[in-house]
Amino acid sequence: MSTAEAASHLRENPFELARAQLRKVGEVFAIDPNLIRILSQCKKAVEVSIPVSMDDGSIEAFNGYRVTHNIARGPSKGGIRYHPDVTLDEVKSLAMWMTWKCALMGLPFGGAKGGVICNPKTLSMGELERLTRRYTSEIINDIGPERDIPAPDVGTDGRVMAWIFDTYSMNKGHSVLGVVTGKPLSVGGSLGREEATARGSLYCIQSLAGKRGMRVDEYSVAIQGFGNVGAHLARLLHGEGAKVVAVSDSRGGVYNPKGIDVPAALAHKQERGTLAGLANAEAVTNDELVELPCDIFAPCALEQVVTEENADRVKAQIICEGANGPVTPSADAILEDRGVLVLPDVLANAGGVVVSYFEWVQGLQEYFWREEEVNAKLHDIVARAFEETWAAQERYATSMRMAAYGLAVQRVAEATTTRGLYP
Ligand code: NAD
Repeated sequence: MSTAEAASHLRENPFELARAQLRKVGEVFAIDPNLIRILSQCKKAVEVSIPVSMDDGSIEAFNGYRVTHNIARGPSKGGIRYHPDVTLDEVKSLAMWMTWKCALMGLPFGGAKGGVICNPKTLSMGELERLTRRYTSEIINDIGPERDIPAPDVGTDGRVMAWIFDTYSMNKGHSVLGVVTGKPLSVGGSLGREEATARGSLYCIQSLAGKRGMRVDEYSVAIQGFGNVGAHLARLLHGEGAKVVAVSDSRGGVYNPKGIDVPAALAHKQERGTLAGLANAEAVTNDELVELPCDIFAPCALEQVVTEENADRVKAQIICEGANGPVTPSADAILEDRGVLVLPDVLANAGGVVVSYFEWVQGLQEYFWREEEVNAKLHDIVARAFEETWAAQERYATSMRMAAYGLAVQRVAEATTTRGLYP
């Protein structure tokens, strides 16, 4: 682990930030304070110890979490993060945002999230598999197709989802396709799932461009993070003719004001595992990337990259939150004053959970759709959510974030009221 990676990306407590956002939504949308009190808490948080036999013969005990924020609208859904900086409060905040995201998209899910404190980059394949299978065993009574359905997040991918699927299925004695999404196609994954988060971001950018009488190919974009979300977003935007001026991974970024050769960047990353040394581009740090001149800045890595310290130096006029929670509430206020439009996480990166929903439905029905069908249905849902958020933003004279969270919280509050408080 490099020194740069050793310092946590979390400058403020993310769960406190998420709760403060919720209280503000409650005020702006006049939601019953009793409901806000219920929604400020997570329904369940499980903490587990995960002993793993390491390749050198030693045993490491890792810590893991699985948190369900709310199930008023259906089973809970949310990714699993493998990262050294994972904390319980981070997982709780991500679980809460998942509740809002699923509600905004109109999906029959509540919100959840999981995490294991580990550095997957330093684990061998065998260690990663043993860690994943033991973690799955420790939370096996908490997950399931009707209960809580995990998916990939930072540091996890289709291979990890396949191990979760297999471990759960082995214990049940039959294949349970609906237990996890983001699976490889060979074991019941959905066409279009891998790039779905980025595709949803693209649809939001296209919708916004339409509102402003612009086309996507007129925009320049800087993208932070070159994993599932960032790399696919770079590829899709490049394909639409946008100028991608900068991309980065955890070790830093590369910048060319005339445009990065995105296919070359993808190949370079694939071959060398890093973006450093990409031809025809100058090196920039992840901090510098936030402040580069461009039309759209798309943070697609971790939380809290735009804060009150750098918000006034952001040059982009649009921020597209591919990541969850990359802009802090205090930065939000500064950006709003400066007229920077933020496409909020619960809208801009919801494509992933939408196609995860499709994967879950296909798995339950054991009937799989064509990729064009998946993308068309994804477009319907994301474009509708964008229009609803846009209309709410105008109606309440507020930001896109407040509008998106407001619509979502209203929907969850309504489901809670309709069901009634048990007992
Ligand atoms: P990933 O692990 O595939 O990629 C993460 C990328 O961020 C990598 O390129 C990594 O090098 C980079 N990174 C890590 N630490 C960094 C740092 N300190 N500074 C800059 N870059 C850093 O993860 P992902 O699935 O692409 O997720 C990225 C973000 O998108 C997360 O916030 C995640 O919660 C969110 N998200 C993901 C999905 C999904 O479907 N995968 C869906 C919705 C939201």
